[in-house]
Amino acid sequence: MRKYQPKPLAALLAVGCLALGCVSAASYALLPQAAEANYLWPISERDARRGEDLIKEYSWKCRLVQQEDGSPLKRMQDRFVEYNSKRLHYNDGKHSRWIEPVYLTKANIGFAGVTKGNCIILYAGDFEYALQDKQANFIDNSHDAVTMAHELAHFLNKDSYNNRPNSKQEYRADYDAMELLANVPEYSFASLALRQQVEDPDDPHPTNAQRRQMVLEKIAKDSKGRVRIDEEGRMYYRGELFGNEGYLDDGPSYAGKKAKTLFLAAQIATAIKNGWWKRDLIAHGPASNVFEDGRHDRTVLALYTDKTYTTPRKILASFQFDDRLNYSQYTPREQQDVQLLNAIMDLAGK
Ligand SMILES: [Zn+2]
Repeated sequence: MRKYQPKPLAALLAVGCLALGCVSAASYALLPQAAEANYLWPISERDARRGEDLIKEYSWKCRLVQQEDGSPLKRMQDRFVEYNSKRLHYNDGKHSRWIEPVYLTKANIGFAGVTKGNCIILYAGDFEYALQDKQANFIDNSHDAVTMAHELAHFLNKDSYNNRPNSKQEYRADYDAMELLANVPEYSFASLALRQQVEDPDDPHPTNAQRRQMVLEKIAKDSKGRVRIDEEGRMYYRGELFGNEGYLDDGPSYAGKKAKTLFLAAQIATAIKNGWWKRDLIAHGPASNVFEDGRHDRTVLALYTDKTYTTPRKILASFQFDDRLNYSQYTPREQQDVQLLNAIMDLAGK
């Protein structure tokens, strides 16, 4: 068995900060300059007014609340804007089309939508994890982020529920949502397949099975055929089963081992696609629950932009153990996690 390696200190600080929700204050500094304006098109006055009318109507019906800076959903939207800054931005006075901070309703409307203007309405029932502000649980946050990504994609594609999108537009929104998710370090495009909707034959959205197929195809394509998930949800890398079973351990997480494994597979595929998949860019550090004695019980494995290990580029997986202890101090279950963590790091060298 491989000896357990301690990680660089910088990685501890960086991941700890991300996990605790210290969202970069640099969102606005990252807004694109006018040279990128060819992505943009103006909102007609009529469309803007229609959007405003709809917001007014729903404000009255559903008590819509625009989300403030620092709130869980605004932070989620900030992450999308920060990492998709060529396509998404707030009103900076430079662009003629922009997205508004999201509106939330707790009324039981049962859907999310984008108005013909620039407003996205989200339904609280779609954000069961994010609204509880569980920052450290990447799987759950990514699971919630897929709804926002889908609506942001409708915004980009100029779809709206003033004219209900057809199945072709819904397919395209899902496809573009996967790209928006792939660009954010802590979100994985696998989330599209992890979100199980109640199916209705009149619903123009892709079915759960179609969404899973889209995700599996994207994993294969983006990883250049290196990463594959089989029908049982096991992961293969260059044709070899990952670990002993092909799964990340479920542990105490309620996300499930198949969900965690799919999340990881998509993150690795994104890294390969972008040329980031390198052994010396991967490091780990504490993610949450730092106790008074300085110990923690969750370790996050991330892929960084460079060897200073300060800026995570992709969160790969989280594990339930304190990565500063010696291997011999772990329970057998924790030892299994350490082995899986090392197994992921090893894949990047292959
Ligand atoms: Zn849609």
